[in-house]
Amino acid sequence: MHSPTLVAIAAILMVVMTLMLAAAWRFNPRIAGLGAWTLSYFFGLLVCVNLLLRAVAPELLLVLLAQLSAYLMAWLNWAGTRAYVGAAPVPRRYGVLGASLLLATAAWFTVVQPEQTTRFTLMSLVVGTLFLLCARTIAQGRLQDHPARYLYALASGGHGLFLLLRPWLFRVGNHGLFDAQHAIAVSHLVVVESIVAIVLMAFGIVMLANEQVTLELRRIADRDPLTGVFNRRAFLALLDKGSHYAERMAFPLSVLLVDLDHFKKVNDSWGHQLGDRALRHFVTVAQACLRDGDVIGRLGGEEFAIFLPNARLAQAEAIASRLRGALEMQPLRHGEAAIALTASIGVAQRQPQEAPQALLHRADEAMYLAKHKGRNRIELAASSPPPADSTAAPALP
Ligand code: GH3
Ligand code: MG
Ligand code: MG
Repeated sequence: MHSPTLVAIAAILMVVMTLMLAAAWRFNPRIAGLGAWTLSYFFGLLVCVNLLLRAVAPELLLVLLAQLSAYLMAWLNWAGTRAYVGAAPVPRRYGVLGASLLLATAAWFTVVQPEQTTRFTLMSLVVGTLFLLCARTIAQGRLQDHPARYLYALASGGHGLFLLLRPWLFRVGNHGLFDAQHAIAVSHLVVVESIVAIVLMAFGIVMLANEQVTLELRRIADRDPLTGVFNRRAFLALLDKGSHYAERMAFPLSVLLVDLDHFKKVNDSWGHQLGDRALRHFVTVAQACLRDGDVIGRLGGEEFAIFLPNARLAQAEAIASRLRGALEMQPLRHGEAAIALTASIGVAQRQPQEAPQALLHRADEAMYLAKHKGRNRIELAASSPPPADSTAAPALP
């Protein structure tokens, strides 16, 4: 028998956490998993209410309700976790089958062959396994990128393990190894452990929701809304990072500066909306020509920049050539019409100690040369003189 005071505290916490999760769900309905998690805590509340009603309601009804609520709490937690990480939902029939088996055995061991310990053991094993599955599902990705995932995994995994060990703990108690006082202490420990684990998991869930919101905000701040590639600011920041890395490791790095040819004509002849579609089309074609670590950004209007980590000028030229050819070969389809799109591309390889702005400037000049020479072509940037400070004549005394 659990202490009613502790169970009442657990019930109050369950109300608070259910409301907190419901609010998080209400304000972020697009975050997968929050609905299932909220419901899960609601069933957790029912478990507590059930324990409080022990003395006043018929036993079979209470046993079935308690088992069903505990099972649904764990199952929905797992369902929420799977939804959150984008895993396929487990078919509902497995959930229903599990619940039916659990309820049938619970009824059997209450009415036909009353055995509280067996009932208790079965429930602990089933529910404990479900919480372990939650931990296994969520624990993915790097710890420093996803601390909330690991907090949640720790809480649900720890709780799952404790539930699996719980029958053993009580069995030791029932064999008389604990005196009455110790038995009460064990029963308190069980409730306190549940409270701590469930509160930690709720914090974990709120942090998980927060992680999604932060990622979404970062995505909005870094991306060009029309094409989905990095905006100018984010691109320059990434190029800066990439340049530092290339400098430190003495790796090559090249950039392509791409400007669509006569784009004004596309807008003038087909309208601005089709112009927008043409920009997205360009991005699709470009992305198909790039490797995994290559970074594409929209500098403005119909001007894009791409940086290729680990690429020398010749490799960058080959990629630019592939991109130019691919764009020429894949006009934008508009009903029956095919709208030809071409681009002029300037290519530059980063020189030692060259600042990102200087590198982009050389690529830009090469791009203008390509325009000048007739468009739909590639030009390689001339190498610039080494940075002023390394060639500067010694200062006069
Ligand atoms: P060039 O070959 O010399 O680059 O000629 P151009 O017509 O591409 O160059 P110009 O700079 O004269 O025109 C760029 C055009 O790009 C003008 C503007 O209407 C169009 N543009 C810029 N941003 C957008 C956009 O977001 N959507 C659409 N549809 N058009 C845009
Ligand atoms: Mg242009
Ligand atoms: Mg332009």
